[in-house]
Amino acid sequence: MFDLVKQLMIARELEFGEGKIAFFSQRMQLVDPAFFAYRLKHADDFWKEAHLQYKSMKEANMEAWFEPVKKIKEIKGDELVKWATRYHNLAGWGSVSFEATQIKKGRAKVKILNSPIATAYIQMFGKTNHPICHLNRGGIAGGASTIIDGNLDAIEIKCLAQGHPHCEMIVRPKDEFREFEDKSLLKQLEG
Ligand SMILES: [Zn+2]
Repeated sequence: MFDLVKQLMIARELEFGEGKIAFFSQRMQLVDPAFFAYRLKHADDFWKEAHLQYKSMKEANMEAWFEPVKKIKEIKGDELVKWATRYHNLAGWGSVSFEATQIKKGRAKVKILNSPIATAYIQMFGKTNHPICHLNRGGIAGGASTIIDGNLDAIEIKCLAQGHPHCEMIVRPKDEFREFEDKSLLKQLEG
């Protein structure tokens, strides 16, 4: 990880200034994941907050990150998949893994170890009975959509915050989630 940071800093793709962090010229800010866990726990309407976290992250990830990286840096295909994985891990969003060929076909199972929001949630409030990594879900959906030049969605089927050993997400085109046996999970894509 340190080598990657060094490489990025030498290439001025990761910059630290007075009160400023920038990654690929895009401003960054370190935020405690407890903030997002708190918002979910105390939202007047849990699903409204979950949908907002998912949608805003999906769009921001596509517009602010993946599209510029694809166009300006001309990173695409396997290289973009690799870049997305490194970015996700470097940014502290947990350790992500998936089959690159599956992502390129627009259908994948994504595993995330050490989700920061799930960890913060358990520390503050204990376990939940539903998945809560909606920001991660949005980031994954946005990244995968850019990789295939299409529109994919993600549903979290297992979450660390529920007591599972890691989080697991399914990425597909929205229509293909209809065949899901656990219909309660489809609520993640309503709204
Ligand atoms: Zn999770």
